[in-house]
Amino acid sequence: MKKQVKVDFHVHSHHSSDSTITPKDLVKYAKKRSLDAIAIADHNQIEGALDIAKKIDLLIIPSTEISTKSGHIVGLNVRKIIPRGLRVEDTVDCIHDAGGLAVACHPFAWFKGSLGNNITENFDAIETINSSSFPFNRCKGKATKIAEKLNLAQIAGTDAHNPQSIGLAYSVLEAKPNIEDITKAILEKRSQSFGNPLPISVRIKQQFLLLNKYLRFRK
Ligand SMILES: [Zn+2]
Ligand SMILES: [Zn+2]
Repeated sequence: MKKQVKVDFHVHSHHSSDSTITPKDLVKYAKKRSLDAIAIADHNQIEGALDIAKKIDLLIIPSTEISTKSGHIVGLNVRKIIPRGLRVEDTVDCIHDAGGLAVACHPFAWFKGSLGNNITENFDAIETINSSSFPFNRCKGKATKIAEKLNLAQIAGTDAHNPQSIGLAYSVLEAKPNIEDITKAILEKRSQSFGNPLPISVRIKQQFLLLNKYLRFRK
């Protein structure tokens, strides 16, 4: 029987200007939350994820969160920049050309640049659980419904921008701990998603950390 792996499919490293997560934090919290892998999906970039993947002893899935004309899309398992500002269908094509999976992340979250109903069968998966999305239960319910309607895989990620959030949402997949097997398991819908919204204390802490980073940057 194949091993099961536990993965947080949406984490921002410190290479995203709004995140405070260092490579050390990734290792620490992966261990703490028993994660086998983490997808780093920084905004409109890929170098940071590729660099971290080489440096730490943890399976990193290099990914990128792309701002399209109509909302955010995660390109999972890509190794090149996907241009921002394109139409949704062109962005999905670019991700596929780059050998990645197109994930409709937080499709119904408020204040987040969400896709809403601009999701088509061409996507590979829907992030039905995103810990940072608000209102959490409504977002989860609507995303699950559209995933079922389009018969798309369902995955989970925290959208963590601070260490304590890593692993609060995750998918469990029937796969070996390598990228090829994990992405195959997504496509074959051998994944189950779990997770909770970020606790209010974490949200407040995150705001303080971001403010701190902002003030240091200004000096
Ligand atoms: Zn986003
Ligand atoms: Zn994100």
